[in-house]
This record gives sequence, structure tokens and C-alpha cells, in this order.
Amino acid sequence: MSTNVETVSVKEYFHSLYEGVTSTVKGMWITFKYVWGHKAVSIEYPEVREVLPANARMRLFNDVDNCISCNMCAIACPVDCIYISSVPRPAGQEVPKTDDGTPMRQVLTQYVIDTALCCYCGLCTTVCPTESLTHSNDYEFAQYTLGDMKYDYLSPEVIAWKPRIVGKEPVYRK
Ligand code: SF4
Ligand code: SF4
Repeated sequence: MSTNVETVSVKEYFHSLYEGVTSTVKGMWITFKYVWGHKAVSIEYPEVREVLPANARMRLFNDVDNCISCNMCAIACPVDCIYISSVPRPAGQEVPKTDDGTPMRQVLTQYVIDTALCCYCGLCTTVCPTESLTHSNDYEFAQYTLGDMKYDYLSPEVIAWKPRIVGKEPVYRK
């Protein structure tokens, strides 16, 4: 019966020990350099937020009080995800005006955007003559189902977004 016993000299033993210690110190030095010496690359969202660029394209919002039902946005949309219906305003009924003074001759009966299909190209907002359709800077609208990403802008729930996201800068913490 034979046994294979590897033998090392005292010199080799101390050399391996030295290599082990120095490589550990080197590795920890690099780690600590990043822990203390570099600016953090992550933020503590949602308490801390990045400031979005001025032209960021986030959740679409149509302020239906300023929409003249012209259909321009739906025509411009490359993925056909804007669904609009309207009827002529009944004769004799007072014609309301948008904030920029444009008469609202049609009555908007449906304004839906399927944001699950939207590619956030911004074409619809670019062509909107009254600027009622805008990209807000609200990006917190994850949903559990695709169906929940279809927004009806005439529904009270979506109209209620207005004070929160239209014409307001979000609050950022430094
Ligand atoms: S951003 Fe582009 S894809 Fe989305 S609704 Fe507007 S035009 Fe359509
Ligand atoms: S382009 Fe603007 S005004 Fe015209 S239907 Fe679309 S949202 Fe309304």
C-alpha cells in the first residue's frame, strides 16, 4: 500500500501564505475604494428621484376640457392606439372654448389610449393644435394586466389625474 503525500518546503509554504494575504488585501482594497471613494450609482427610490429631462415622454394625458376632437393625434399615431369618437354639438347649444380660445364644435364621446401599444414617440402631442394632449412626467403607472393600461380619458378616474400631473412639476428630493 502506498500513500501520496505532497510535501512543500518551508519557503514554499510562506510564499503561498504571502500570496494569499496580499491578494486578499488587494481585493478588499478595490472593494473599499468603491464603497467609500465613489459616488453611489443607485438611489433610494421612491424617496429619492432623478430629475427628468424637460423633454421626457412619460404617461400621456389628454385634458379633455381642451380637446376639440380634431382627430389629428389619432391620425398621427403610428400604432393606431388612440380611439376617438365625437358628435357635432347640437344646434343652438353654446359652443365652449378651449383655454387658447379654440371653439369646441364637436362633443367628445370617446377618448381612449391603449398605452400598452404606445411607443411613446410623441407624434400625437406634437400635432395636437390645442396642446390638450401632453406627455406628463408621471412614470409610475405600472399595471398588472395589459387591459388596465387602456385609459379612458373621459372617465372620472382619469380626469382626476389632472390636478396631479398637468402643469405641475413633480417634487424631487435632492
Ligand atoms: S406617443 Fe406615439 S404611439 Fe403613443 S399614442 Fe402618441 S403617437 Fe401613438
Ligand atoms: S389632436 Fe389634440 S385636440 Fe385633436 S383630438 Fe387629439 S387630443 Fe384632441
